[in-house]
Amino acid sequence: MHHALSLKFLGGAGTVTGSKTVLSFNRQHIMIDCGLFQGIKALRKKNWQQIPLAEEISDVVLTHAHLDHCGLLPRLVKQGFKGAIHCTPITASLARIILLDSAKIQEEDAADANRHRYSRHREALPLYDTEDVHRCLKLFQTHDFDEWVILGVDLKFSFKANGHIPGSALVEVRAGKKTLVFSGDLGRMKPLIMSRPKPLPACDLLVMESTYGDRLHSILSPFDQLEECVNKALAQKGQVLIPSFAVERSQEVIYLLLSLMQQKRIPRVKVFLDSPMAAAVTAVLTDYYRFLKDPALLGILKEVFEVVSDYRASQSVVSMREPKIVIAGSGMMTGGRILHHLEAHVGKPETMVILPGFQAVGTRGHTLAHGGDELKFFGRYHKVRAEVVSLHGLSAHADREEMVQWIRKADGPPGRIVLNHGEPSAADSLRVKLEHAFSIPVSIAVQDMELVLDYEE
Ligand SMILES: [Zn+2]
Repeated sequence: MHHALSLKFLGGAGTVTGSKTVLSFNRQHIMIDCGLFQGIKALRKKNWQQIPLAEEISDVVLTHAHLDHCGLLPRLVKQGFKGAIHCTPITASLARIILLDSAKIQEEDAADANRHRYSRHREALPLYDTEDVHRCLKLFQTHDFDEWVILGVDLKFSFKANGHIPGSALVEVRAGKKTLVFSGDLGRMKPLIMSRPKPLPACDLLVMESTYGDRLHSILSPFDQLEECVNKALAQKGQVLIPSFAVERSQEVIYLLLSLMQQKRIPRVKVFLDSPMAAAVTAVLTDYYRFLKDPALLGILKEVFEVVSDYRASQSVVSMREPKIVIAGSGMMTGGRILHHLEAHVGKPETMVILPGFQAVGTRGHTLAHGGDELKFFGRYHKVRAEVVSLHGLSAHADREEMVQWIRKADGPPGRIVLNHGEPSAADSLRVKLEHAFSIPVSIAVQDMELVLDYEE
């Protein structure tokens, strides 16, 4: 006897945000990730639509805590979802911090819109608020890596570490006689501080991300590049400003800085992590990173590192004159405390701004990365005289060759592959490469595409 088995792609198809896939088996519906759409307005508007099957979905399986994978969960709950949200313990801790922060931003944006009457016809409402997030957090159930979780008759899944961020996982699903794997965001094959992804399990179908499907990461050493920039700024008595989100790139940057200090390649100056979320994130991750268990690095960390979570303390760090290194959000400078540091220092030629992350079109980060000579924030233009450097080689996503390598190391190639979570050109470039390398069918997910894998008999 066969059971109907199908997938429906509700997000993260033709784009890198809003990841959402529904797996239907034996008339039961499971959602893999429930991400927020971000970026251009046409995408963001999708966040307000009714999520199909919201009340019928029995379980959500969450690959990791990034907003583009978990950011619409409170909305799903608001629309009637009452099942369980499954994830690893670290993902649950990080998702709590990230979702509460997201609710605060939604609330502030709505309040701003009402104050300035951006929304002319009716009162602007937040997509969800803090209370919605707390209702959603009650549904979380945590499972360790490699544990099998039963979801229904002949239906179970297991998380395997995939090296993208702490707690992140690929999902192996067994539905009847079929095995499906969802890669989640796949980490690097030679990571700086994460462990490399676990091997791809043998499977009938692999749903794989394709963010960097058309790219190869730089082979420049981020150590050498950071050493040069920091030394240059400190020699001219300047400030080093590093815009970064508390959960994303910050830990890698801190690891690089501590290592360089330990090797005496840069001096031991103060490093401030200035973010309201930083203390909570640091508490979650301290147990996780092996580099924080290295006594030499831990000693330096205690000597130079300071978390600034209080707003007034942040103001005093801004006005400190001595050369220092500041890591502050937001990563693309769309808001956050980094703006106060820029206000004080971006007009000075001795300042060094180091960009460790991707800068999306339309953000201040993109303007800076592309040589813009002024930045607008706090209602006026600020002249840019600081030196701006993009730090290469720090991506949390596998590139095209790394993805091919990962599949090559599996017990056997998957029966077929569907690519999601990528811009169309990246997905298509990877499709061509994979078809050539493995001679298996590879297709690209498009929004609302349904894929029937087995019929009822
Ligand atoms: Zn991610």
